[in-house]
Order: sequence, then C-alpha cells, then structure tokens
Amino acid sequence: MLSFGDVPQMLRTLQPDNPVYCIYPLVYRRTTQRFIEGFPGRVLYAVKANNHPLVLRALLDAGIRDFDCASLVEIEEVRALSQDAVCYLMNPVRIRNAARIAQQEHGVRHFVVDNPSGLEALLTEIDPGKSIVFARMAVHHETASFDLSTKFGAKPDEIESLLRTIADAGAEPALAFNVGSVVMSPDAFVHAMDTARTVLEQIPFRVRLVDIGGGYPKSYPGFAAPPLEDYFAAIREGVQLPLTEDGELLAEPGRALSARGMSAVVQVLLRKDDRLYLNDGMYGAFWDLRYKLQKRYPARVFRGDKPLQDSTRAFRLYGPSCDSGDFLPGLVELPDSIDVGDHIEFGSIGAYSLSGRTDFNGFYSDTVVQIESSEALPPA
Ligand SMILES: *Cc1c(COP(=O)(O)O)cnc(C)c1O
Repeated sequence: MLSFGDVPQMLRTLQPDNPVYCIYPLVYRRTTQRFIEGFPGRVLYAVKANNHPLVLRALLDAGIRDFDCASLVEIEEVRALSQDAVCYLMNPVRIRNAARIAQQEHGVRHFVVDNPSGLEALLTEIDPGKSIVFARMAVHHETASFDLSTKFGAKPDEIESLLRTIADAGAEPALAFNVGSVVMSPDAFVHAMDTARTVLEQIPFRVRLVDIGGGYPKSYPGFAAPPLEDYFAAIREGVQLPLTEDGELLAEPGRALSARGMSAVVQVLLRKDDRLYLNDGMYGAFWDLRYKLQKRYPARVFRGDKPLQDSTRAFRLYGPSCDSGDFLPGLVELPDSIDVGDHIEFGSIGAYSLSGRTDFNGFYSDTVVQIESSEALPPA
C-alpha cells in the first residue's frame, strides 16, 4: 500500500497519468467517531457506499463493529479484515444459498425480508433459532432525494402478519425501514418512526431492534444539507418506540461515513478554451453525479506539486470516454491558467465513487493510496 504525508508528496513521487484515489484514514476515523457519538443506538456501516479495504479498515479502527451487507461478497470483504466484525445480510433479494453460507461460514444472524415468499425462501436456508429477521416496511417522505419505497418494503398494514410469521418460525422478529437516500429533512425520520410506532403498538409482542436505515446527507459546494446533529436530535427526541427493555435503534449510514475522507486526483488531458477533458469521468469515480443531487465536489488544482492559484473562471469538465454524455453536470470554477498536465484534486468523493466505477472504454484506475494528513479537502 502506497502511503504519503499529503497530496503534494504523492504528486511529486508518482507524477500520475491515471486517476489516483486518496484515502485519508484519520478523516474517516473522525467522521465515523462523530456519528457513533451522536447517534442514539448502534451504527452499522452500509458497505455498498465504499467497500475499499482501506476504508473498511479505517471504520473498524474508529469503532464500527457492525456492517450492513447486501451480498455474500460484501460479507467476505468485511470478514477478510476482521473476524470480530458482525455482518448483517440486509437485502430482501439474495442469491440463492447466500444466506445459508453467510450463516454457516460467517455466523451471520441478521437478515431482512419484505414479503412472505422471501421469508419462506430464507427459512429454508437458515436456523431460525439463531436468527433475527427484520421485516422491512416501506416508508416514504417527500424530502428523500431517492424514493426506495417503490422497490422494497411491505406496506405498514402487512407488517404485523410478517412479524408474526417470523416469530412463529422461531426467529426473533425485528423491524426495519429505510427512508431513502440523501434525506434532506430530519422530520423524515420522525415521520417514519411514527409510522413504526403505530405498527408496533398494534402487535401483541414487543420487538427489540428497529433499524431506521441510512440516508443521512452530506453537504457539498452549493448543496447545503442540515448538520447530522439535527438528525440525531430528531431521532432521539422525536418518537418513543415501544420496544423491549433492552431495545435498540440501528442506523445504516453509507454516505455520511464514507464521503468526507477520500479525494480523487485527476489530470487534465486536453483544454479547449473553457472546456477541460479529464482522465476520469461519469463512468469512473464521478458516477454518483448522474443523479444530479449535488453538482460538484470541492476542488483544487496543482501544477507539479504546487497549488495553482490564479483568478478563476467556469469550466465544463468532460470525462475521457467517447460517450458525449460523459461530462460532469454544472460548471466548475477553476484557475484560468489551468492547462494540460495539471492535476485537480476533488474532495469529499468517498461515497458511491470507487464502489461503482466501471472500465468503460478502457479507462479505469485502481491506484488507491493512503494520505496520512488529518486534513482532507476541503479543510474542516
Ligand atoms: C444504500 C442503503 C443504505 C445507505 O444509504 P446512504 O444513503 O448511503 O446512507 C442503508 N440502508 C439500506 C437498506 C440501503 O440500501
């Protein structure tokens, strides 16, 4: 693993022609500890946001023990780094036999279903006496930028019978929901928890665990999200759920833990007036921008290993592939004198970047390095 004190040192040493993904473990640690301290319950990391071993390692070091996995492969990635890690298989859609192998080989106990046929299939693979099965409830709120309730989740009035069937099969019943992703209002969680309370008050037994999902947003330039503390306060104070005495809330943040501590250092390959062509684009680390929630990442420019400072102008940025749609949305203010060979560092790019990049058109970099500095871009 290549490790550097800071980005200028990396640039001096590697003089990279391909994108370099820079992981700041100390920033991951700080971001994660803040979440663990603030959230009134247990924090599971949603592995799909960034499954790079360096990121998983940094989260383990920060005190994360629980991992929200969607597949056997994600479970294996976590277990390769830690035998103590607790992996949850939290996808209502599973490859056949994945749950069986997850339980037998990795001791996985937590699963999720959102309808009776999914539960029936799950029960053929697991030992219910050793299992906790969440019934996932569909909830939606207009401030969620992505509505996940159209794909997953049983209607609130179907949850009671699902929980009952889980309990009758001998597994521990629990409740899960996911408000959406990039949820812009803390009220969305309160609203969903209120629906959960109504459901839980109607059933004749108490559940111990309620998983309130992920979706905590991250601010980007020109895209201001409420601070995490507002979400924690709303969740702590909003709704009292009727749980067992040892009841616990679970959160599954992905973006909120993974965004801040990674940057992508890319190179300018071609300049045409106010258009720049880069060695990374929408098929690479920038793919999350296709959802147009935020338009850009914090950026700074280097010529060699020196910051390039100059009056700025707005540039349109293109990726390297032959697809005319391969450009970053919006315009980015960069130094006017930027030119071929210069490098741009884009900060806060750790969420949904590495984990979904492709090798379309032959453009792919797997240069991932560690940066020891405790200050990522932008400065905290
Ligand atoms: C993707 C996902 C998450 C993480 O979402 P973020 O918006 O990154 O916090 C959490 N839970 C479930 C079920 C998911 O599908």
